[in-house]
Amino acid sequence: MAEVKVSEIPDEGLSLSVKEDPAALDLAATGVRFLEPVAVDVFLVKADKAVMATGRIAVPVAFECVRCLREFPASLDIPISTQFVPPPELPLGEHPMPPDEAEDYYYRDDGIVLDDLVRQEVLLAVPFNPQCRDDCRGLCAQCGQDLNRGACACAPPPDPRWTVLRQHLKGK
Ligand SMILES: [Zn+2]
Ligand SMILES: [Zn+2]
Repeated sequence: MAEVKVSEIPDEGLSLSVKEDPAALDLAATGVRFLEPVAVDVFLVKADKAVMATGRIAVPVAFECVRCLREFPASLDIPISTQFVPPPELPLGEHPMPPDEAEDYYYRDDGIVLDDLVRQEVLLAVPFNPQCRDDCRGLCAQCGQDLNRGACACAPPPDPRWTVLRQHLKGK
C-alpha cells in the first residue's frame, strides 16, 4: 500500500513512481483483466491544507468484447489531476461523506493513501461496454458462431413484423 506522509512532502513537491499490484488494490471489474502491475506516476505538491496530485496511471489490460466475447488487448492511460483534502471536522462518531462536487480525495492523520485514488480512477476508466472493434458482428444468437470469422448456416431470425401480420391473418 502506497502511503505518503503529508508532513514529509517538501515545499517543492514530491515525485512518485510506483507499481501497484492489481490484486492488492482490490481491482475487480467484470470484463477486464489486468495484465501487469499498475504504473502510477504522480507529482504531489502542497497548497495550503490541500495536496494537489497530478500525473498519470497506466496499465495494460485485456477487455472482453461484449459482442463476440473474445478478449482483446488494450491499455488504460489515465491522466490524474485531483487533490487530497483533509476531511471536514465533524462531531465525534460521525463520518464524513465523500465530497460530491469534485474528484477530491480525503487524507487522514497526515497520511495520503494513493490506493484509493488509483482504484477509483482505474475503475472509472474501464469502459462499460468494451468492443473489440466498432463494427464487431458478435455471435450468432442461434448457433454461437463468431460472425467476424464468417457467416453461419442459420436462417436469419424471422422479422417480428411478419409474425404480427401472420397472427393478424390467422385471427380472421
Ligand atoms: Zn468483438
Ligand atoms: Zn448461426
